[in-house]
Amino acid sequence: MAIGQFAYASSTQRFMACAPLADQPFAICGVPYDGVVTNRPGARFGPQAIRTASLMLCDAIHPVFDVSPLAHLGDALDMRLPNASPLPEVRQHIERQAAELMARHHCVFLGGDHSVTLSLLRAAKARHGGEPLALLHFDAHCDTWTDHFGEPSGHGTWTYEALQEGLVSPAHTVQVGIRSSGERAAREYVADQGGQIFTARALRGLDGAGLAPVLQAIRQRIGQRPVYLTLDIDVLDPAFAPGTGTPEPGGLSSSQVLTFVEELADLNWIGMDCVEVAPAYDHAELTSNAAATLVWTYLAGQVARRTAP
Ligand code: MN
Ligand code: MN
Repeated sequence: MAIGQFAYASSTQRFMACAPLADQPFAICGVPYDGVVTNRPGARFGPQAIRTASLMLCDAIHPVFDVSPLAHLGDALDMRLPNASPLPEVRQHIERQAAELMARHHCVFLGGDHSVTLSLLRAAKARHGGEPLALLHFDAHCDTWTDHFGEPSGHGTWTYEALQEGLVSPAHTVQVGIRSSGERAAREYVADQGGQIFTARALRGLDGAGLAPVLQAIRQRIGQRPVYLTLDIDVLDPAFAPGTGTPEPGGLSSSQVLTFVEELADLNWIGMDCVEVAPAYDHAELTSNAAATLVWTYLAGQVARRTAP
């Protein structure tokens, strides 16, 4: 079936009102799929909500990096996906469309539930030489469960699957903000495989300069290996991001996560996604505003790196 036959695409606006995607170095693309959430669906509307929130960023000149990503960015709008098909088929469509974009652009994807990241990592690994990638994973959940409540795959299994498939290097995988319920084998899987976990509890009260040792540890571990950023918006405390399917109290603040994105801008980033924004549960557009600001900050950091003298 041709991609154009799938009817559903949520977005008509472009991120920060940037141009349609042509030959710009950076691309935005929505992945409006939420077929394998644990409980509350709605993340298929995330791309649209994040783009609407991004219009608040005006001229988009970032106060830390002193650049605007606007001239370097095009928006491909949303992938067309067969939302009623089995997950493996949906994933093939995501991977194929992501690979086409990654061949020509540094990509930022807007989810969608977190299951989409497995497809994005498959495309990214193929694009970047086939060596296992480094991964920086912000989330309340470890996403290393070996099954999804009896089903083989869901939005909480992709990290396990990515490690099993060799998409990411265990020693170069770092998780930040983990705090949900779950058995020890899943919660500590990444550490057991040789990676590193900074739980939300370990980061309590740390901000600004207090995060320096954490940033240093991440920098040392990842080095200049090609690294992918996946940002599950539920890493933020529900006070900062209530609009998500599986909120977990006791999370990170917006300023904590911004500090990570700003201070680590000089790593060898190859792309990112921001997932699990579910606007039906949002209040005052808090969640979509946070997501838009984090994506904008990532893009500004990458544009600054690319255009540095
Ligand atoms: Mn997740
Ligand atoms: Mn999560």
